[in-house]
Amino acid sequence: MGEFDLIARYFKRPSREAEPGVALGIGDDCALLQPRPGMQLAISSDMLVEGRHFFPDVDPAHLGHKALAVNLSDLAACGAKPLAFTLALALPRVDEPWLAAFSHGLFALADAHGCALIGGDTTQGPLNICITVFGEVPVVSGKSQALLRSGARAGDDLYVSGTLGDARLALDALRGSISLPANVLTQARQRLEQPTPRVALGIALRGIATAAIDVSDGLLGDLRHVLKASHCGASIDTSVAIQLIASHACGKRASGQFDAEFSLQNRLNWVLAGGDDYELLFTAPASAQAAVIQAAHSSATSVTRIGRMDEETGLRLVDANGQPVSGQFASFDHFA
Ligand code: ADP
Ligand code: MG
Repeated sequence: MGEFDLIARYFKRPSREAEPGVALGIGDDCALLQPRPGMQLAISSDMLVEGRHFFPDVDPAHLGHKALAVNLSDLAACGAKPLAFTLALALPRVDEPWLAAFSHGLFALADAHGCALIGGDTTQGPLNICITVFGEVPVVSGKSQALLRSGARAGDDLYVSGTLGDARLALDALRGSISLPANVLTQARQRLEQPTPRVALGIALRGIATAAIDVSDGLLGDLRHVLKASHCGASIDTSVAIQLIASHACGKRASGQFDAEFSLQNRLNWVLAGGDDYELLFTAPASAQAAVIQAAHSSATSVTRIGRMDEETGLRLVDANGQPVSGQFASFDHFA
């Protein structure tokens, strides 16, 4: 099968009802996007490399899901509504069952978000998937409604959506450095391989959150980007944060004691520095607390207040009594 047959069979779909925002899709030299009046385009790219971001034997349907999910997560962090995406794909060979499963996983998530595949590139080479997403965000009275990293202020509450640490727990288990009961691994592995981009929450937080970022490299590392852009510091209550790992009960015996590998330090490490969570980390003034709860409710997404932004720069970990907690937590950096 040649390049053009491959695109036609797996990526170009029979013409669908008019996709909002898309004037021209796959087939010409360019696709054409038509943002609605009063809207800005939000654009982001993410690349997934075999061996670096996923195991060679990962389920291709999960890979299709994840490749788009990590991109939609960036739109979510900006409060943008997905419109369309492009797909640049390097494949070692034409493997039709693999392509069928990959495109199935990809389009299931794309359709759930009304996000159309409008173009891309296909080449032979080591497996590599690069997606660019396009979304829209309103401009109101000349001001963009996009959520940025730079808007947090001292005194704001610090929130995170969903759960944290389970993707890293699954990664450690798949690498064989810890062992998990089968049911716990299944659940944690789903968080690693099929993350849920918090698109509805991001949109609901427009005009409420002062700053936002998605957690891809680990909570602490990503929070540092917000602190730097917003010129303030933060304190995190670790007694609240540690409960965010969904599988946190997995190392607990009947006695209530945790197995050694589920020590407080390890659990905190998965939550604070695990990565691959694709949750939203955001700030909002204390006066907006009811609005945050309403946004969480309307988007059917759980949200937890984990700390506060401070005048004093730097990041502090504290316990329930506000006393400092020590520990070394490194977030993910490809070139570190
Ligand atoms: P060109 O050579 O002009 O860049 P191509 O021959 O690479 O165009 O691609 C033909 C058409 O198929 C273009 O519209 C392109 O956007 C689209 N396309 C190529 N690869 C993909 C892909 N993996 N997914 C979706 N569309 C693709
Ligand atoms: Mg091309």
